[in-house]
Amino acid sequence: MFQSVRWRLTLWYCGLLAVVLVAFSAVSYLRIARAIRAETDASLAETARELSAAFSHEDFEESGATRDVPLDFRYSDRVLLIFRTDGGLVASSRLPGVGERIRSEIARRILGGERGFFTVDRRGSEPVRAFATPLVVVSARFIAVVARGLGDERRRLADAGAALFFGIPVALLGAGVGGYVLARYSLAPVIRMSRQAERIGASSLAERIDVRNPRDELGILATTWNELLARLEAAFASQRRFMADASHELRTPVSILQGEADVALSRADRTADEYRDALQVVQKTSQKLAQIVKDLFLLSRADADRYPVRRSRFYLDETVAECARAMRTIAESRGIEIRMEPVPETLVFADEELIRRMVLNLLDNAMKYTRRHGVVRVTLSHRDGVCVLAVQDEGPGIPGEDRARIFERFFRSSPAAEHEPGQGGGAGLGLAIARWIAQLHGGEVQLRETSPSGSTFVAEIRADPADADSDGPF
Ligand code: ADP
Repeated sequence: MFQSVRWRLTLWYCGLLAVVLVAFSAVSYLRIARAIRAETDASLAETARELSAAFSHEDFEESGATRDVPLDFRYSDRVLLIFRTDGGLVASSRLPGVGERIRSEIARRILGGERGFFTVDRRGSEPVRAFATPLVVVSARFIAVVARGLGDERRRLADAGAALFFGIPVALLGAGVGGYVLARYSLAPVIRMSRQAERIGASSLAERIDVRNPRDELGILATTWNELLARLEAAFASQRRFMADASHELRTPVSILQGEADVALSRADRTADEYRDALQVVQKTSQKLAQIVKDLFLLSRADADRYPVRRSRFYLDETVAECARAMRTIAESRGIEIRMEPVPETLVFADEELIRRMVLNLLDNAMKYTRRHGVVRVTLSHRDGVCVLAVQDEGPGIPGEDRARIFERFFRSSPAAEHEPGQGGGAGLGLAIARWIAQLHGGEVQLRETSPSGSTFVAEIRADPADADSDGPF
């Protein structure tokens, strides 16, 4: 039960309220007690003043008159006493009587020099509050005492105390019930939200939590949840697309391998040449398969931000030249010339293997689409810490509707598919990987221009990654 926020909130609330109420009641009780006492004392002093005034108006010749004056004062709640300075009682008013024990205690105190206000509390009798003041009659000195039982005062105080202290549990109970209902009411949306969230699983990520008031705290929480769900949904969808595309890409070479093996083994009397041809197809297809698997592995590590980037210092111009040389044999077989413009020395701090991969991907595309006996031009420039590699081909160009999509994974435009039918075409990962590599090095790969007579792709990387703003995968 106390694990629930509702209960904890209510208990905290009641606890704090109890502390405040007790402190408030204690202070009020003390103030009331002081006010009642001040009231009693003021009325005793007033009676004493009246008594003194009565003596000053009379003509006192005999001590007998002193004895009679108090008899004229008839109060229902106090008694007047006149003592000699030696403690002997001279006179006392008639009503109400103060017990003998109390009277002798007052006399003892008067004799002991007690003056002003004092309280006499003897066990077995009602406590008494008294006010003693000197009284001079003719030339004789007396002590006048006005005394009053404290029963009434104590009863008023007890009533006030009871009202205050019995009120506390009642107030706490009311506040507790109210607090619990309020906490329950305000937390109800949280419970509703968590029930909705419970129902959302990997297969129902399209569902959203209701947002009643987007401006209050719970609305903000629900909106944040919904945004998180939207991101998860997008990530799941792209993951699913990636899986589907990847398995689709792998299916073709695998079925070629299987078909080739089936055909080769279907008859026992095959010639050595026929086996050689079959093995050549198997070799080419498995090379392509290996490349696709390698690309997929690289992209999955890139997505998880786990690609082990190994940066070193090297000359980019040399790496580009090496890549061009590596392509030369294929180029010559198709009568294509790779023309590398003279480039200045360009020292970079980058992952050489990845940069080589990026350059080869761009050159490979240029070679694939350039017409026979065409020219592929490669230029490299270096400005403000940014190296710019441009690869210009004489291919068929890229149709307008495909330009935005060629950097997507697994995308292949239809002219490309026609151009390189069968196993010669790539899996549509080359540009996606090239772009990721450039971004990893603080740069970008872009299609600068394209027309039916050719296209130019440009790759930019920062010479020093310390200058790079972005280091993450795309
Ligand atoms: P692939 O490995 O299949 O070439 P890419 O990601 O490198 O995949 O390219 C994606 C698509 O972009 C290709 O299928 C092709 O349609 C288009 N493309 C890329 N480079 C060129 C180019 N130089 N000329 C014409 N089309 C190109």
